[in-house]
Amino acid sequence: MAEKRQDAEATRLIRAGAKPRALARTVGPPIQRGSTVLMPDAASLYNHDHVTYGRGGLGMHEALAEALCELEGATGVRLFPSGLAAVTAAAMAVLRAGDEVLVTDTAYAPTRRFFDKVLTRFGVKVTYYSPRSTPEQVLAAGGPALRLIVMESPGSLTYEIQDLPAIAVLARAREVLTLVDNTWAAGLLCKPLALGVDISVQALTKYVTGHSDVFLGSAAAKDARLTHALDEAVWNFGWSVSPDDVYQGLRGLRTLPTRLARHAENARVVANWLMQQPEVADVLYPPLPHSPDHRLWKRDFTGANGLLSVVFHPTSSTSIDAMLDTLSLFGLGFSWGGFESLAISSGDQLTHRRFPSGLAGPLMRLHIGLEDPADLIADLRRGLDALRDAQARD
Ligand SMILES: *Cc1c(COP(=O)(O)O)cnc(C)c1O
Repeated sequence: MAEKRQDAEATRLIRAGAKPRALARTVGPPIQRGSTVLMPDAASLYNHDHVTYGRGGLGMHEALAEALCELEGATGVRLFPSGLAAVTAAAMAVLRAGDEVLVTDTAYAPTRRFFDKVLTRFGVKVTYYSPRSTPEQVLAAGGPALRLIVMESPGSLTYEIQDLPAIAVLARAREVLTLVDNTWAAGLLCKPLALGVDISVQALTKYVTGHSDVFLGSAAAKDARLTHALDEAVWNFGWSVSPDDVYQGLRGLRTLPTRLARHAENARVVANWLMQQPEVADVLYPPLPHSPDHRLWKRDFTGANGLLSVVFHPTSSTSIDAMLDTLSLFGLGFSWGGFESLAISSGDQLTHRRFPSGLAGPLMRLHIGLEDPADLIADLRRGLDALRDAQARD
């Protein structure tokens, strides 16, 4: 019998410290990293009833999916490496060549680009509808091949709210699926699945992770066939999300209601102040009683966030830029949902829409962060002074 020889150091280092050990119970679940999943025996290699490869997600992914099921009132939630990936994968999961998809004209600009540039190449007809359409008009905009309605409520930049329950009922009667981008509500302020919508998608990048440092998306559904279709989309497209990023999603959920309440409180103070400024023609923010979307917001939403847009009286883009360049507490940058205040001009985003937005003048989007609103107002006052100075020079 051969004598038991010791493995060489290179071999021993491959196994050292790798034995499974019991974990102390921390407040948050442990982060497990892994592509390869080790099987207990040969028969398990092709037994797909359990996890055989890390791309499908491990414990942390399951933990966040479970928490998001709770948030969205879903039976299944799938995770994606960005909000945009969640929207595109969910649409691809249910559409096929020859179908028509109806998309709200106020969809997030990169979402629109995907429908225009990618789906049309695969024989899907893309039709836009005005967010001011009645539910009947929305359905009437689609032909006999209509398969999916993609809503975003409130819409990007201008925050038109869709009558989700009414559209969902009419769609269902025609065997048309509905999908809503639920990022504004962060899954918390509106429950699209309870309102009858089939798929609720979110950019967790925004309020859920909440610190402007993570990309993450989710798609939620109640129907088992749809959750299976989303599974297939994750698997067949090869999406995978880092467990570290997933952890940030779970961590963000813990403080989501508290942060959103403060964002909303600050935004309301800033919105009311903005409404009184002579340079401002309107403030777009559904919680404001004069908003054309206020009634639907009150009916279908339980709260607000920190996102609003200022519509100015007609003025040059140089004067808008002069205001932006004067702001010091508002960072100039895209995205929103972090703890900090941000501002952007609308650039050419509104010009890509098919239906005119009917705004009095140029639009500036503000994300109201968790700073003291009195300081934000002082910053905006300096910005408005700079806008006026620039107007005098124009
Ligand atoms: C930001 C955003 C997205 C995209 O999220 P990413 O994680 O940046 O890809 C999708 N929809 C809406 C409404 C958004 O605001």
